[in-house]
Amino acid sequence: MQRRTTLAAGLTVPFNRTRPVGRETQYLVAATNDGPLSGDGPFTRRATRMLVDLVGAPAALLTTSCTHALDMTAILLDVGPGDEVIVPSFTFCSVATAYALRGATPVFVDCRPDTLNVDERLIERAVTDRTRAIVVMHYAGVSCEMREIAAIAARHGLVVVEDNAHGLGGTFGGRPLGSFGALATQSFHETKNVQCGEGGALVFNDERYLERAEIIREKGTNRSQFFRGMVDKYRWMDIGSSYLLSDLLAAFLTAQLERFDESQRDRMYVWRTYHDELADWAVQQGVTQPTVADDRTHPAHLYHLLMPDLRSRQAIIAHLAERGVQATFHYQPLHSSPAGRRFGRTAPGGCPVTENVADRLVRLPMFAAMTPNELDHVVASVQSFKLHG
Ligand SMILES: *Cc1c(COP(=O)(O)O)cnc(C)c1O
Repeated sequence: MQRRTTLAAGLTVPFNRTRPVGRETQYLVAATNDGPLSGDGPFTRRATRMLVDLVGAPAALLTTSCTHALDMTAILLDVGPGDEVIVPSFTFCSVATAYALRGATPVFVDCRPDTLNVDERLIERAVTDRTRAIVVMHYAGVSCEMREIAAIAARHGLVVVEDNAHGLGGTFGGRPLGSFGALATQSFHETKNVQCGEGGALVFNDERYLERAEIIREKGTNRSQFFRGMVDKYRWMDIGSSYLLSDLLAAFLTAQLERFDESQRDRMYVWRTYHDELADWAVQQGVTQPTVADDRTHPAHLYHLLMPDLRSRQAIIAHLAERGVQATFHYQPLHSSPAGRRFGRTAPGGCPVTENVADRLVRLPMFAAMTPNELDHVVASVQSFKLHG
């Protein structure tokens, strides 16, 4: 079937647009009328059950954000001054700041040129006798090389933490992303596949962390045990903060998780259309499309192109903006950022691939509610960008 590739005049396509996908409004009304509005109510229980089923993990706790879930991993791992945690340079800063907050040193490792995930071949030479953990992030929801990373962690007695903000619904070797790390984190920010505005989760594949995590999440108290009738009063037990998601937001999240398959189908359609319709154009222009190996599936979290260089990346963003299409760059390297230099250390060899791809990457609009006209318009606008002549 030949897709219509004429430019629709006057159409603007945002980078992201949210929409209710199911019973969001109904559940918000129910939560408002019935309460509780605070955390750990009935909607939290429903959303948590769906999340653990999706990730295939034994337990999860909803949190106020993925950033806070990462902060919790740093407290749970008891890292502090002198300790090192291996993190990708090509990722969001929450990973690095979580460990820097505890006084530990993030050690930045370069990414692979194909998946843009942390390059597992570079991890081992970043390990020292002070290394405590390896944090991985599945860029665009395409899995990292988890077999090699698990083997390195086992050889050196390190904990693997999986920042699965992009990967909900993806798999590696048939196994859900989010089920590999002893601890994994999720984001339900409005830019993610499943949303509640601001929200996240800490996922436990090693349940030994669960009891202490409940205390850390409840301001350092054993209030969760008190509500279950396990202790007769609750007390200050540990450090912690207020990391619980309001049940109002959990109500919204429950509605989103109930419709996960439908939203994913819509996102995947957008992803596939970009991938197929831009294939010839990409070859002609020397543009690289995403790489997804056969042993993994991704949840269509984002669609990115690697342009030949910074100039062509800036040029295509401007070209698309003129046509009402909002395309954007992505992560700037953490290792060379002001805070990265101050709080972190760069692994031997530096991060030349990260520096290179950060300059060349452009992301196209990607959201489940994209209309066929909008999708056509983005495809045609990209195809009309020509580097040579
Ligand atoms: C979005 C994102 C985060 C932060 O999520 P919040 O829920 O906004 O705190 C962390 N890591 C990655 C890779 C992300 O994409």
